[in-house]
Amino acid sequence: MKLITHNILMCNKKGCTKNNFPLRLVVKQYADYEADNAQEYSANLMTRLLEKLDWNALKITVATLPDWGIALPDAVTPELAKDEAFLQSLHMLLVRRQIIDGEMVCPNCERSYEIKNGIANMLLQEDEV
Ligand SMILES: [Zn+2]
Repeated sequence: MKLITHNILMCNKKGCTKNNFPLRLVVKQYADYEADNAQEYSANLMTRLLEKLDWNALKITVATLPDWGIALPDAVTPELAKDEAFLQSLHMLLVRRQIIDGEMVCPNCERSYEIKNGIANMLLQEDEV
């Protein structure tokens, strides 16, 4: 699961409608992959991703992963959005890095969503829908 995916996921458990984003990410294992053709680095791709991204949620999440050694700026300024080195490091973080094993925990109801073999299980039990 990529951080770009984590960036749009929220808890959908019945009755959990507030303070359910971003999910608290617990990483047990991650890996950095080569990008495939569709996701190869381009400044255009990164500009489009940046437009869709909830920067604050990404920043909060990355701050909880100190062993990744990444510190994100408070905001993406127009200058930064054109900075090649910044965009390339963001590509690494959002597109190539994948969480293989871990979980995501709702900050509101504490519901845990498992990540296994790189795939997040967002399915709810019958009594949670
Ligand atoms: Zn929840």
